[in-house]
Amino acid sequence: MISHLQRRPWHLAVWLVLSFSTVAPAQNQAGSIGAAEPMAVDSRISAALQQVSAERIRANIEKLASFGTRLTLSAQDPAAIAAGRGIGAAREWIKSEFERYAKDCGGCLEVKTDSFTEPAADRIPQPTDITNVYAVLKGTDAESAKRIVLVTGHYDSRPSDTLDVKADAPGANDDASGTAVSLECARVLSKMKFPATIIFLTVAGEEQGLNGSHHFAKMAKEQGWNIEAVLNNDIVGGDKSAEQDHSVVRVFSEGLPAAATEQDVRRIRGLGGENDSGSRQLARYIADVGRAYYKDTGVKPVLVFRLDRYLRGGDHLSFLQQGFAAVRFTEFREDFHHQHQNVRTENGIEYGDLAKFVDFDYVAHVARLNAATLASLASAPAPPANLHLLTKDLENESTLTWEASLGGRASEYEVLWRATTSPEWEYIQKVGTVLRATLKLSKDNVIFAVRAVDAQGHRSLPVVPVPER
Ligand SMILES: [Zn+2]
Repeated sequence: MISHLQRRPWHLAVWLVLSFSTVAPAQNQAGSIGAAEPMAVDSRISAALQQVSAERIRANIEKLASFGTRLTLSAQDPAAIAAGRGIGAAREWIKSEFERYAKDCGGCLEVKTDSFTEPAADRIPQPTDITNVYAVLKGTDAESAKRIVLVTGHYDSRPSDTLDVKADAPGANDDASGTAVSLECARVLSKMKFPATIIFLTVAGEEQGLNGSHHFAKMAKEQGWNIEAVLNNDIVGGDKSAEQDHSVVRVFSEGLPAAATEQDVRRIRGLGGENDSGSRQLARYIADVGRAYYKDTGVKPVLVFRLDRYLRGGDHLSFLQQGFAAVRFTEFREDFHHQHQNVRTENGIEYGDLAKFVDFDYVAHVARLNAATLASLASAPAPPANLHLLTKDLENESTLTWEASLGGRASEYEVLWRATTSPEWEYIQKVGTVLRATLKLSKDNVIFAVRAVDAQGHRSLPVVPVPER
């Protein structure tokens, strides 16, 4: 577990120098020293997590598996939809589920589709219509509503041969489980209100080349959406193999950003920034949520500092390529007999991605961890903007400057730091509402970040500074 917090005192005395403008003389003031503490539990979020139902999740996964195949190349004409076989039927059912949740919350969810024709490619023999289905829970605060947090899973599936439109491909774990997480988060969180916007997404085309998520992320980038976090759930079924660990879920995050420019890479190389991508800040945030809400979620996030598993990819990559912070949730141990396999028995081994191998209680635990993360971020103030670390002079203290969190919901800022070798934030200094702080700590020895916090203790994602000469 990475989540263990170190409690040893910081070996350097920390004095905080606060100044209310860059020209006023600095005022020396003693600051408290403390190891990072878990975020405060919001009882409203905690109560909502109890509404996540393993029974609902079971029904949804079994329903998705019942469409026979959800291969992106499978039928989507009206006759196939009416017959209930193929990706078209699955798509229509997902849409109707979101619409049902929307009706139950008095129209609070806007249900939308993102359709396009993918041209022929390696795994797409002829131009194919692909449709992403999603629901938007718009934020209640005009300025904060521009901030978006998003959960996604892919509803397409595949048999052994990813061009085989005839074979059954129940895809219960890969990825009806992730689709069920998006659906259940939508059902439960739509009963609440948040200042920021939450999008519940289900995409297709993942198995043919991440086509659906690529289209969606590109559209979001082109339209200037401010997506702060993407939670991709792919294979979160907790396959019931004997070696499975049902107490944990892996959270994969990238190191060097896929969207980094040459200039970014030079800076990252020079300053040791390879462990501080937006994706990694999001992963640490999930570890924080995991500790705070463990009693409600029942599952511990295990951070894996790696984009994805060997030989495998996923939809979070599409969002990372557009510069959005994204992570992937996946069960701890996969059974490869139960993925990407035609349903059959050979030499006494059962192959195929069947619902009977899925642990629905486990999927519910993972859904609660996702819902807690979405709700915490959507309740939090915007992160501080334009954070800089002043590097004009050689000196043994560190000065950070930033601009106010947009939306006016931050009641204070917190400076975080950790040793360069530590996986998670270790130390915190609360600095009030100032936009500048000087710490008697050498920037050469630690990594800093700043986050915004509201009056109830909801934390924004931390931001790491860029150096300013
Ligand atoms: Zn998958």
